[in-house]
Amino acid sequence: MIRPILKYGAPELETPSEEITCFDDDLKELVRDMFETMYAAPGIGLAAPQIGINKRLAVIDLTSGQEKDGQLVLVNPSIVAEEGSQKEEEGCLSIPGFTAAVTRPRWVKVRAQNLDAQEFEIEGEDLLARAFCHEIDHLDGVLYIDRISPLKRDMIKRKIRKMMRNGEW
Ligand code: ZN
Repeated sequence: MIRPILKYGAPELETPSEEITCFDDDLKELVRDMFETMYAAPGIGLAAPQIGINKRLAVIDLTSGQEKDGQLVLVNPSIVAEEGSQKEEEGCLSIPGFTAAVTRPRWVKVRAQNLDAQEFEIEGEDLLARAFCHEIDHLDGVLYIDRISPLKRDMIKRKIRKMMRNGEW
């Protein structure tokens, strides 16, 4: 089921999410919905708070569903190591129509659990490292615009407020 994606301004997007302790069928269904919602958007990553659920869960697929083994599910993820830096344009399904250059580590190692509660580690570089950082930020209530220059951030927020006033957001 495709779920509505919350946009900037929704309090859930700026609320730190809770650890997941219950690995049941509801969680599996939520993950299915998140992939469906992400592919429909379309996007390459989606965190549970973006559909209004403040739980530490994110899905990533850099192939946008083009390759069968492209799906990554991260339950209770955290970054345990990082190296280097990269600065590239970044966007977010919850802030449609905007992008900005964000500095991120070039390489990260993430520790997370899978849908069977088993812990695993996964490494990513370049775009995958960026996706890991972006989605884990969501679980901490942090948006990419919190990581850009105040000038650029104010410009984006001003435009969004104008769109809100005009009923376009
Ligand atoms: Zn995002």
